[in-house]
Amino acid sequence: MSEPESRDFIRQIIHDDLESGKHKEIVTRFPPEPNGYLHIGHVMSICLNFGVTDETDGRTFLRFDDTNPGKESEEYVAAIKNDVRWLGFDWQDRLTHASDYFGRLYEYACKLIELGCAYVDSLSAEDMRNYRGTLTEPGKDSPYRDRSMEENLDLFQRMRAGEFADGEHVLRARIDMGSPNINLRDPALYRIRHITHQHTGDEWCIYPMYDFAHTLSDACESITHSLCTLEFEDHRPLYNWFLDQLKPPHRPRQIEFSRLNLAYAITSKRKLNSLVEEGIVTDWNDPRMPTIVGMRRRGYPAAALRDFVTRAGVTKKDKLIEMGVLENCVRENLGDIAERRMAVLRPLKVVLTTYPQDEVEMMAAMNHPGRPELGTRELPFSRELWIERDDFMEDAPRKFFRLKPGGEVRLRFGYIIRCDEVIKNDAGDVVELRCSHDPDTRSGTGTSDRKVKGTIHWVSCQHAGNADVRLYDRLFTAANPNSAADFHTVLNADSLQTVAAMLEPALASLVVGEAVQFERLGYFCLDSEDHSAAAPVFNRIVTLRDSWAKIEKQALQKQS
Ligand code: ATP
Ligand code: MG
Repeated sequence: MSEPESRDFIRQIIHDDLESGKHKEIVTRFPPEPNGYLHIGHVMSICLNFGVTDETDGRTFLRFDDTNPGKESEEYVAAIKNDVRWLGFDWQDRLTHASDYFGRLYEYACKLIELGCAYVDSLSAEDMRNYRGTLTEPGKDSPYRDRSMEENLDLFQRMRAGEFADGEHVLRARIDMGSPNINLRDPALYRIRHITHQHTGDEWCIYPMYDFAHTLSDACESITHSLCTLEFEDHRPLYNWFLDQLKPPHRPRQIEFSRLNLAYAITSKRKLNSLVEEGIVTDWNDPRMPTIVGMRRRGYPAAALRDFVTRAGVTKKDKLIEMGVLENCVRENLGDIAERRMAVLRPLKVVLTTYPQDEVEMMAAMNHPGRPELGTRELPFSRELWIERDDFMEDAPRKFFRLKPGGEVRLRFGYIIRCDEVIKNDAGDVVELRCSHDPDTRSGTGTSDRKVKGTIHWVSCQHAGNADVRLYDRLFTAANPNSAADFHTVLNADSLQTVAAMLEPALASLVVGEAVQFERLGYFCLDSEDHSAAAPVFNRIVTLRDSWAKIEKQALQKQS
């Protein structure tokens, strides 16, 4: 039994229920509807449901809520299983479907009819809506509400036998058409749908409604704590009503917590689906998507996602969490594991006029500054190098400590160089720098103890590998695109930029699934879909918490 990091209100309830002996074992479920891919919000629900039972040696079911045939598919089922496993959770032999219980649910429905608690209604869908009332007006009873128990049972059995067309009849709970809670105004329990179900085929032509199926599937699995999001708070009286009438051997308790919303991202399967359908992103696993498949392809480690939802916490308060919190979790995770490499994203050529034409030196470069056990690699150094275009400034302010005309900078793991000459093309763009190096300043072995303020990264031209590097930004320009009337109006046109980068040779042996830090630039990985050895493609996972850039920017602002 592992201890939770902290005890939120749900963990407190669970703790108390174990301590008081109300439950000996905690049983939860994660109940996705297989109508799309899982997103960051679901990560929270997965980590909560599986987390509380990991911590208490309980059990968690992965239950597909497949009560809505037509919208659901095996593609989504497979993806959801993969996602839960990747996040680090194991349902063991507890993979279930709401449809596994269709037989028992049908019996429960018959029992409700026998108890006088359900009836077959034959109003048209439109009449049923009109009879339902509004938030301010009570509903009114259907003329079919007082059918006899025998007639109801007969009609319901014939519904199941396929004697009626879609929409001809509906089984409804008999509760209270005057209830201020619309969920209690004789909610529908079963409707007729002549449609093939992805799991039960053509065995059924009536399908249970969500509330009924969900409550009783929970009971069938002896769930102790049915954890769901706050929008189900108003459904809890109905949840409890089913349990009160049917008295199943196990009585689960529904507890609601607030949804997790991520700033600058959408967390609704329907809207994510339209991003895909409209071609705004390439697919559900586009690395800009807040889906689990997208974040995995982007290179976010599973541990970072788990940390993130722990940090977000389980509460009853609405929350919109900053993207920066998620990105920090990713950085913290990768900081320890990712080896350092050199890559230049926007190359500018440097020619060292003082360095011999054909000489190549192998520089020892540390793989991880904080973990010497990860060793060093050899970095070839030669007369022509690529440096980052941003690391040179022609009219640089005094506090710009990188390369400028007449200025000096250290090449990481290399020498101190001075910029002697700036070469421009006819358009006036800088295309090359002619520099000289100080041979006594070689890193590690140089005899000079001369210091300069700036250090920049570089790649040797003749040894460089090429790659497309995809730089991602948030998909939206508004903090809460979920609440925008039309999310199209707040799309970020610059959410993806691709650059042709130059890489140090060691990057050729990187494998898909491994993350590296490009020194001074951020964390990167190979794209699992589009990468090939012949045409490497990298994703930027996240930028560095780049204190030097920030400090320098402030300094620049102060000067100007
Ligand atoms: P969506 O609105 O994206 O379709 P959903 O709630 O319809 O989400 P389900 O497949 O029904 O998706 O969700 C499975 C479980 O995940 C439910 O218990 C739901 O409460 C939970 N869940 C969904 N979105 C979030 C979220 N943003 N934060 C926390 N839990 C969530
Ligand atoms: Mg749902």
